[in-house]
Amino acid sequence: MLATALGMLLLLSGAGTAWAQTTDDGVEGKTFVIGTDTTFAPFEFREGGELTGIDMDLIRAIAETEGFDVEIRSLGFNAALQALSSNQVDGVIAGMSITDERKQVYDFSDPYFESGIQMAVAATDNDIKGYEDLAGKTVVAKTGSEGETYAKSIADQYGFTVTSLDQSATMYESVKSGNAVAVFDDYPVLAYGIAQNNGLKTVTEKVPGGSYGFAVNKGQNTALLAAFNDGLAKLKADGSYDKILDKYLAAPAAAVPTGFGDLVVRSFPALMKGLANTMVVTGISFVVAMALGLIAGFMKISRNIVLRGIATTFVNIFRGTPILVWAFFFYFGLAQLIGQPVNIWVAGVLTLSLNGGAYIAEIVRGAIQTVDPGQLEASRSLGLGYGKSMQKVVVPQAFKIMTPSLINQLIIMLKDSSLLLAIGFAELLYQGQQIYAANFRVTETLFIVGAIYFVAIMALTKLANYADRKFNK
Ligand code: GLN
Repeated sequence: MLATALGMLLLLSGAGTAWAQTTDDGVEGKTFVIGTDTTFAPFEFREGGELTGIDMDLIRAIAETEGFDVEIRSLGFNAALQALSSNQVDGVIAGMSITDERKQVYDFSDPYFESGIQMAVAATDNDIKGYEDLAGKTVVAKTGSEGETYAKSIADQYGFTVTSLDQSATMYESVKSGNAVAVFDDYPVLAYGIAQNNGLKTVTEKVPGGSYGFAVNKGQNTALLAAFNDGLAKLKADGSYDKILDKYLAAPAAAVPTGFGDLVVRSFPALMKGLANTMVVTGISFVVAMALGLIAGFMKISRNIVLRGIATTFVNIFRGTPILVWAFFFYFGLAQLIGQPVNIWVAGVLTLSLNGGAYIAEIVRGAIQTVDPGQLEASRSLGLGYGKSMQKVVVPQAFKIMTPSLINQLIIMLKDSSLLLAIGFAELLYQGQQIYAANFRVTETLFIVGAIYFVAIMALTKLANYADRKFNK
């Protein structure tokens, strides 16, 4: 019931809201937020930390020709589409195929690239030669992609299972590691990866299919769409379009294998930026969570039933629901409800602090109740009132009791902050994903990321324990 009501509200507000440019008042001088995939080389990928690729060059060249600015958000394919639906971005360019289903909800530009689906297997695999060999096996495809739709459409016929993943890099990794036997992806992307020695080979003919288009939300950003088409036509006319394609497709340079040390050195700047974001978002969220948790914790032991009820409801809701649900809700859902894009920091802090606050409330309540009731009685028999007794006798002891649990909670929050990568928050693991999405060195990159988390958490624990010893003695 509540869910239906909320759904209706979302729909209604979604239909009525259009804070992005909706009218044809031109694009000149404006900045548009454009969502894209994490990695879909040669269309979008990172080189030396910078986003490049055919899509990136195209949108930037068009923006320059048409006199507008773009701010690119590397979100992942499915997340980019969700961000577009909830107007968190103005447009999406992500090697996105123009399909009939998508045309119901998005408006597409003129097509700018012909594509189609193909299947690839591990280069070392000699068993899978066609769809017939897939019976009883698992294949991977990207969540929300045309490749996924195609794989699912023939899955029953050939008797295989489709597992959906969010990123090209993890899809390829699962095939190489043997968790899946094949991947369904767009052929230009597979071809490019194979030329780069990504450890795969194609075994079937490509399925001719969708062309790529730039997308905006249906009926919105019409000026931006018109400018894209106009700019694309100009780039085609003056030869820049062909130049962009040639730059990436003519002779894709094979990746030069480099050592682990080199990977560490090269990925360090981006990872440190990620670590800084992780620390800051955790720090702010912890402060807010402490405030919430203290208030709710005291409300829980209050003698007022209403206050107790409110606090219990708060704790139950946020302890009883996954963090990721709230991250999506605050970033995508809330934006539709209020008709305003929600800043990613605000969404991140809300998510972490409400969840953390619920746990801290329980820590606070537990600690206060752990203080020997005799302490309160003794203090009151000495003539102090209830409030003063709490403040001077019970709470100081409770603080000592709760400190280790609070340190624990801080560490949990730091680790949980990695979930925010799902909404495109540029924290440590997100940066790691961006790196392996580009170089396909998943294991080594994750090892570096894990080591950084470990060192950061060890340092934080040492610091917190030191503070605990200093202030709680
Ligand atoms: N072309 C495919 C689609 O639109 C895949 C796009 C992508 O993975 N970025 O579904």
